[in-house]
Amino acid sequence: MDNVSIAIRSIQHYLYCPHRWGLVEIGRVWAENYFVTKAQLMHERVHNPESSYISRGKKVFTDLWVYNDDLGLYGKTDCIEATPDKDGCTVDDSCEKYKLCIVEYKPTAPQNQNFNFDDSMQVFAQKLCTDYVFNCDCDTVIYYADIKKRVKLPLREKQEEYLIALEDILEKMRQYLKNGKIPEKPKRQKCSGCSFKDVCMPRIKTPISIRREIEELAEDRV
Ligand code: SF4
Repeated sequence: MDNVSIAIRSIQHYLYCPHRWGLVEIGRVWAENYFVTKAQLMHERVHNPESSYISRGKKVFTDLWVYNDDLGLYGKTDCIEATPDKDGCTVDDSCEKYKLCIVEYKPTAPQNQNFNFDDSMQVFAQKLCTDYVFNCDCDTVIYYADIKKRVKLPLREKQEEYLIALEDILEKMRQYLKNGKIPEKPKRQKCSGCSFKDVCMPRIKTPISIRREIEELAEDRV
C-alpha cells in the first residue's frame, strides 16, 4: 500500500481540496456541476486518440498515457507536441528525433497571476512521467481557452522545489489512502465552484466542532 500508484489528475483534486479528493478516492462519491461539465467537454475534445496529427511540421499526440515507476505516478497528457530536433528523443519506431512539449488545456486563465500552482503541479507530474517514458527533458505550457494564450511554465528551472513539494503531497495522499481516512475540510476553503457542496455541506458544523465551541464558551464563563 505504501507504493500505491497515484493518478496525476488526483494530485490536482487533492490540491484543490483534500476533503473533496478524499470523498472521491476513499468515499467513492461523485457529483458534477457546470464547471465540471465544461472542463470535461473541453478535455473530451483534446482527449481523442484518433486526433493525433501533424501540424506545421510538428507531430501532435493527444490522449497519451505516461507513467513514472520511481514515483508511482501515471496519467494522460492532454497533448504532446513533438518538434524535429537532432538532440531530441525518439517517439516511435523511426530514427527521427524530437523535442517534446506538454500542452495542458485549461478553460479559464487565473485573474492575478500567470498560472495556478495547482495546475503547474499537475503539469510537473506529467513532465516527470513523460521524461521518464521518453528519456527526455520536455518543455511545458498551459493553454488557456478563454484568452487563447499559451503560458510557459518554469518547471525545469524550479525542478528541485517542485519535486520536494510533489513528494510531500504524494506521501500525504498515500497515508490517507492507507488509513482509509478522508481529510478534514480545510479552514478558509473556497467552496463557491465546488460540485460537492450538496454532499459536503461545508457550512454545516460537525458535532465535534460544535462540542468544541460549547466547551470554549463554558471555559470563558468560568
Ligand atoms: S464544498 Fe468546500 S470543503 Fe467541501 S469538498 Fe467542496 S471545496 Fe471541499
